[in-house]
Amino acid sequence: MKTIKAIRGMNDLLPAQSVVWQYLEQEVRTLVNSYGYQEIRMPIVEYTDLFKRSIGEVTDIVEKEMYTFKDRNDESLTLRPEGTAGCVRAGEQHGLFYNQVQRLWYSGPMFRYERPQKGRYRQFHQIGVEVFGLDGPDIDAELLLMTARLWRNLGLENAVTLQLNTLGDSESRSRFKVALVEYLTQRKDQLDDDSQRRLDSNPLRILDSKNSETQQLLNDAPKLIDFLDQESIEHFELLKQLLDDAGIKYQVNPRLVRGLDYYGKTVFEWVTDQLGAQGTVCAGGRYNGLVEQLGGRSTPAVGFAMGIERLVLLLETCSAIPESASNDADIYLMTPVEGGQSAGFKIAETLRQAYPSLRVISHCGGGNFKRQMKRAVDSQASYALILGSEELESGEISVKALKEQQPQQRLNEVDLLDFVAEKFGLKSTDA
Ligand code: ATP
Ligand code: MG
Repeated sequence: MKTIKAIRGMNDLLPAQSVVWQYLEQEVRTLVNSYGYQEIRMPIVEYTDLFKRSIGEVTDIVEKEMYTFKDRNDESLTLRPEGTAGCVRAGEQHGLFYNQVQRLWYSGPMFRYERPQKGRYRQFHQIGVEVFGLDGPDIDAELLLMTARLWRNLGLENAVTLQLNTLGDSESRSRFKVALVEYLTQRKDQLDDDSQRRLDSNPLRILDSKNSETQQLLNDAPKLIDFLDQESIEHFELLKQLLDDAGIKYQVNPRLVRGLDYYGKTVFEWVTDQLGAQGTVCAGGRYNGLVEQLGGRSTPAVGFAMGIERLVLLLETCSAIPESASNDADIYLMTPVEGGQSAGFKIAETLRQAYPSLRVISHCGGGNFKRQMKRAVDSQASYALILGSEELESGEISVKALKEQQPQQRLNEVDLLDFVAEKFGLKSTDA
């Protein structure tokens, strides 16, 4: 019979990788918590209309990337392609936005039907941060300070750079769109196919085109910056000032527009040149119109999302994964004699009770000394504890170092607890 494999672009995470994910997730958790952000968890499936109305009908995501299906009740549902829409829906539904500031974050799987390649998958994972109820550039700056701190904490500060732009308000974008369409229509035959199509549907996205001829053409095209409203200009100037004062470097990129319709004013991307074409590890911006667009009261909002797979790839590329992010055991407890199992469990439980962070593996499945020792070595434990017949009789346990040369010693329970505390730098919870 043919075996069943996972769906293309949807990956299993095996233990050797999941420890790296755990490390990254723990760093993010600590970070967002230190800025006072609170976690929100939304469903993975939402009504299709939510994404159509928020992301925009003429975007890559809605046009060709969504996993949409009818449920048994004939309703059109979609596996979420991103988190902002669901977060806004949830906040509105539960009254989180009225007269309140919300600093929220979430993480989880997202789904897009894209061509799978390095850094681009069909099920991928994002950590997202969204702030509601604040209009000023100070909160935009806070989000960038927060991400900059994350890169520092992860040892990635030299691997990423910040690209920044402002999209102005919707009126300035409309005026710019007219001028851009006029310019590009006159040169339509020089545009790539995608851009020709977008000329009618979503001309701003042409700025994003990766086609080099199109990029050439854009060099002399009208610039959004010349169409900006005064308020957006001031907002942007203040944001840049705050970043300067905080020592955060950035590049203003007038071509940066982002692929979703709901952005206005600030947009940004943290990019790396170390992952090939999939170089954006974190992207976001301001979306003051979205809550209202989805039927709520007008609420300013700003946020970003980072791709976990790309960050893990970057950690690997930069050799920035700490040794502590491993599945190695600390202690492997061997019971190579008949009847040793109960006494072995007792010692293991005592150790776990005293030191909850200690990683103790109790040998299971029997076997002789040699076989158990092989398992101990395979576990990468620093120490094997051996409960042989002599030890069982004397109420002691033998300790053998597995990663360095040390004479084997025999300890009673009290000395064992002290030994472990000293070797692993632990404090007993019973002390
Ligand atoms: P790209 O231009 O690379 O397609 P995007 O603009 O579609 O990115 P966003 O919707 O802004 O991406 O999502 C935020 C982040 O999520 C991206 O910067 C990236 O790190 C990650 N991401 C987006 N799509 C994928 C995917 N298919 N696989 C893995 N990560 C992804
Ligand atoms: Mg995309």
